[in-house]
Amino acid sequence: MQTRWARYGAFLLVLLLLTACGRQSAVTAGGGAEIPEEILGELDEETLQDLVEEPKYVALTFDDGPRRDTTSVLLDGLLERGVPATFFVIGQQIPGNEDLLRRMAAEGHQVGNHTYGHTRLLTADPDKVVEEIQKTEVLLKELLGEGDYWLRPPYGSIGKTRAALVKTPMIYWTVDPEDWKVLDAAKVTEHVVSHVEPWGIILLHDFYPTSVSAALDIVDQLQAEGYTFVTVKELFRIRGVEPQAGCLYASPDKLRSLG
Ligand SMILES: [Zn+2]
Repeated sequence: MQTRWARYGAFLLVLLLLTACGRQSAVTAGGGAEIPEEILGELDEETLQDLVEEPKYVALTFDDGPRRDTTSVLLDGLLERGVPATFFVIGQQIPGNEDLLRRMAAEGHQVGNHTYGHTRLLTADPDKVVEEIQKTEVLLKELLGEGDYWLRPPYGSIGKTRAALVKTPMIYWTVDPEDWKVLDAAKVTEHVVSHVEPWGIILLHDFYPTSVSAALDIVDQLQAEGYTFVTVKELFRIRGVEPQAGCLYASPDKLRSLG
């Protein structure tokens, strides 16, 4: 009898793990090194604050590229600042821009999948969903080698049924300045800088010159505020969260409902 219940319990647990995004995740990383007490009294307020404060990590993400003129300028600016970012690229824009993709990988950026033709997955045929993801994945693997190319669904939505077809984690965002609509670098920068929080994911598009200019200003301003930029994968790793395939994350701490 006991064995049967134990088995039933194990079955329920597996079911829970399979059905609930993020249940296997565990936040393990803490910040703040311990400071010996005899030193504490010697420090001025500001230094103390710096030591006690947890490191602030954030990820910059770019959708809808690559685009020759804008993406090149962005890569130059990020390289100059030593800042890694994450690019969710559109498959049909890869031919002719292979060097940009290789450059992203060589310069420490994460490359992800934004489907082949920027398809609205929420309403697409399930076969089309798989095809749109795979076509880009094949191109990325040919160019950059085997790897786990995480997905950002165009428009940020995919729905439960189609999400089950996705074999990688999916990434949403926590800050969206609607740069594609605003097309004003100062306004985009202001929105991001005033809304960002540690462990956040910023959404921008390397398709617009104003967004590229904003991105570099955002880096400069947030670095001055003590933020460290990392790729999305690094953000999850540092936070101690193992993202699950088929789940949509706004950040390592926040799941986005699939709707
Ligand atoms: Zn997009």
